[in-house]
Amino acid sequence: MPALKVAPQANRINTAYPAALIKIKMNIHEFQAKQLFKDYGVPVQDGVAVKTEAEFDSAIAKIPGDHVVVKAQIHAGGRGKGTFADGFQGGVKFVKREEAAAIAKKMLGNTLITKQTGPAGKVVGTIFFTEAVDIAKEYYLSILLDRASGKVAIVASTAGGMDIEKVAAETPEQIMKMLVDPDIGLQAFQIRKLAFFFGFGEKELMKQFKAIISGLYKLFMDKDCSLVEINPLVLTEQNRIEALDAKVAFDDNGLFRHPEIEALRDIHEEDPKEIEAGKYGLNYIALDGNIACMVNGAGLAMSTMDIIKYFGGNPANFLDVGGGANEEAITQAFKILLKDKNVKGILVNIFGGIMRCDVIAAGVIAAVKNVGLNLPLVVRLEGTNVELGRKMLAESGIKLTTADSLADAAEKIVNIVAQQNK
Ligand code: ADP
Ligand code: MG
Repeated sequence: MPALKVAPQANRINTAYPAALIKIKMNIHEFQAKQLFKDYGVPVQDGVAVKTEAEFDSAIAKIPGDHVVVKAQIHAGGRGKGTFADGFQGGVKFVKREEAAAIAKKMLGNTLITKQTGPAGKVVGTIFFTEAVDIAKEYYLSILLDRASGKVAIVASTAGGMDIEKVAAETPEQIMKMLVDPDIGLQAFQIRKLAFFFGFGEKELMKQFKAIISGLYKLFMDKDCSLVEINPLVLTEQNRIEALDAKVAFDDNGLFRHPEIEALRDIHEEDPKEIEAGKYGLNYIALDGNIACMVNGAGLAMSTMDIIKYFGGNPANFLDVGGGANEEAITQAFKILLKDKNVKGILVNIFGGIMRCDVIAAGVIAAVKNVGLNLPLVVRLEGTNVELGRKMLAESGIKLTTADSLADAAEKIVNIVAQQNK
């Protein structure tokens, strides 16, 4: 393999990884998260979630008070400041009860675009009507896995309700991060420290806060969560601490232990390509570049994305076809890759270990013939029976470029795609 220059671009390589790759998680809606909060003794407002206009009036009738908060349910935050595709402002509205149905009508079925959805936005399929709260102050509180320390991190801020990333960047003193050893659990002194940080030192507030943080920590551990986030946690004018928003995400790898959580899945919120891939045992994550990659093994898939970036290209996806990819899996993988309209070229990078390269070559040939392909294709095969595999590809009549190293393959596909974009 030719020597690969590393620096100075090396430091930009890791920025190729989007949040999607780190997530390994399943999200649920706010109204579902709030039900879990209730189960764990964390105070939330009464509310009713509905999917059709016909249910609006009876749902609103169940909410106490003169005002109702109408909340669009999508798997993304920033709804309050979001905009709908038709220009209607705000996916969270504090309104008089008689206006609630009309507002909900504007949201249901509409596409909400927020800072977290990307420009395509998300279609609102559920409306949550909930009790309006008199807010005295807003805070931020979350529990997540801190991979660096292997511990559970509690992140707290007295500047909640706003963009927490902005607070972290501009006024980091307003954020406190506390690590909890999962073997020992959350300790009383840690709860007190958090309570004082928030200004909940007074006896009655301390009692409420202790129940909230203990409940959240237990929820996080019991259900294999990757994130429990409340933004904002509020102190009401009535001196009650409550969760006004709720975001809970779960580690996919723990889902088999929680069928009740799996049942909360809303597949309308997930990328259809990712769902399709799951059916064939393919690990596929859509990204926003234009070079599709098909790789066996997650580590090799990561390296392939890195090296595409290194040569100035952008991966369109992460795809690990697995160690035992057969012809059918490869055909399906091609189909999924080609559903992405941004794709301008494909890089197949397979290392034949247990899998033989001739089997892979046969799969690639069958897949291309079956699916039909008019995009540039670069194939790099290495490992067992590589000579036979290369020969089969050469004799197949398929228009493709072969490469004899990962660097060579990445450079070729990046150049081909750059050329045709000129
Ligand atoms: P998002 O984070 O997606 O914008 P939130 O649920 O946090 O949605 O709502 C945005 C803002 O709306 C909150 O910061 C809060 O100020 C206000 N809000 C949300 N729910 C209520 C409620 N039940 N009563 C009063 N105000 C609310
Ligand atoms: Mg919020």
